[in-house]
Amino acid sequence: MTATSPSAALAPPFIPLCEPLLAGNEWPYVKECLDTGWVSSVGAFVDRFERSLAAVVARRHAVATVNGTAALHVALLASGVQADDEVLVSTVTFIAPANAVRYIGAWPVFIDAEPVYWQMDPVKAVEFLERRCVWKDGTLRNRDSGRRVRAVMPVHILGHPVDMTPLVETARKYGLVIIEDATESLGAQYHGRAVGSLGDIAAFSFNGNKLITTGGGGMVVTDDETLARRVRHLTTQAKDDPVEYVHGEIGYNYRLTNVLAALGVAQLEQLDLYLTRKRQIAARYHEAFRDILGLRSPVEAPWARSAWWMYAVLVDEPTFGMSARCLLRVLGEDRIQTRPLWEPMHRSRAHAGAQHTDCSVADTLVRDGLCLPCSVGLEPAHQERVIERIRTRAARER
Ligand SMILES: *Cc1c(COP(=O)(O)O)cnc(C)c1O
Repeated sequence: MTATSPSAALAPPFIPLCEPLLAGNEWPYVKECLDTGWVSSVGAFVDRFERSLAAVVARRHAVATVNGTAALHVALLASGVQADDEVLVSTVTFIAPANAVRYIGAWPVFIDAEPVYWQMDPVKAVEFLERRCVWKDGTLRNRDSGRRVRAVMPVHILGHPVDMTPLVETARKYGLVIIEDATESLGAQYHGRAVGSLGDIAAFSFNGNKLITTGGGGMVVTDDETLARRVRHLTTQAKDDPVEYVHGEIGYNYRLTNVLAALGVAQLEQLDLYLTRKRQIAARYHEAFRDILGLRSPVEAPWARSAWWMYAVLVDEPTFGMSARCLLRVLGEDRIQTRPLWEPMHRSRAHAGAQHTDCSVADTLVRDGLCLPCSVGLEPAHQERVIERIRTRAARER
C-alpha cells in the first residue's frame, strides 16, 4: 500500500474525455502474435481485421493502414486526385483530411456546416459546385481559381453521418470522386446504410480516442477492386514484384502491423457493446440537459443512426451564463476533462488562403461547442458528477 496524502484522498477522481476500453480479447490476441513471432505488417490478424471491418461496413475490400491520416492520403492518391486539383472538405473537422489534400499538392475548398446536425452542409456544397464552378469539356472547374474540382470529402463528425444524397447526386453528375472521412463514425448509419459505404472510398481511424482503437491505425474501404489493389500497392512501397525489388513509382510504408491488427480484431468484437454504451451515455446527457437553459444537446437526424462517438453540447453564453471556454475551465478545476471543437479549417493558419463558402455556422459551432466525457467505460456515477457540476454552473433552469 502506498500512503495517500489527505488532499489526494479528498480530490474527486479525474474524469477523462474519452479513453479506450481494452477489456476483451486484446491480451490473448497480442500474446499470440508475440508467441508466434508474427509481429510485423504481414500476418493473420491483419487479414482478419481487414475482413471483419469490411463486413461491418458492408464493403468488399478493406486495406489496413498505419493511421487514419495515411488512409485518407492513399484514398486520395488511389482516386486519382492530382496536384492542383481541388477537393471539397468540411470546415468543421479535425485537420487531418485537409492536410491529406495538401500532401498531394491538391487544394481544399472548405464547406460550412449545417446548423442542425453540424455536418458538411449539402446545400452549400451543391451550390458551390453548381454556381461557382463551370462544366467544360468533361471537367468541372472552379470559376475563381480555374482549377479542376476532382473530389468531395465529407467528414462525418462526432459520430453522426453527413446528409449524403444531395452530395452523391451532384458528384455523380460531374464525375467527382466521393471520399468519406469516416474516421469518427464507425458504426453510424445513413438511411440504414453503414457510414463508409456511401461513396467511392472511405477512411477509418483507430487512434487512441476513436470508438475502437489499435493505439494507432487506419483502414481504407471500397467496393472497387481496382481502387483496393491500388491502395494496397501504394501502402507497400509500390513494389511491383513479389520477389524482386522493383518499383514503378513512389510508394509509401503505410501498412498496419499484425500486433496492432490483433488489438483491432479484439476491439471490433466489442463494437456493438461500445455502440450501445455510447448511445446510453448520450441518452442520459440528453435527458439531463433538457431543462437547462442555454445548453443545446446534439440531435440525431431521423435518417441517421449516430455512433455517438463524441458527445458535444453547444453552450449559449447569454442564456447559460457562461461561455463554452469558461465552462471548460471550471469543469477542469473539478477534474472533469472537456474539449472545445476544432478551430474550423477556414480559420486555420495551416490552410490560410484556402477558398471557402460562407462559414458562419461553423464559427458559431466552434465558439459554443464543448465535448463532454463519454468514454465507453464511463461509470454512471462519474457521468452523474459531470451532469451535477454543469447543472451547478448553469445560470437558470427551466
Ligand atoms: C482521427 C481523425 C482522422 C485520422 O486520425 P489518425 O490519428 O491519423 O488516425 C482523420 N480525420 C478526422 C476527422 C479524425 O477525427
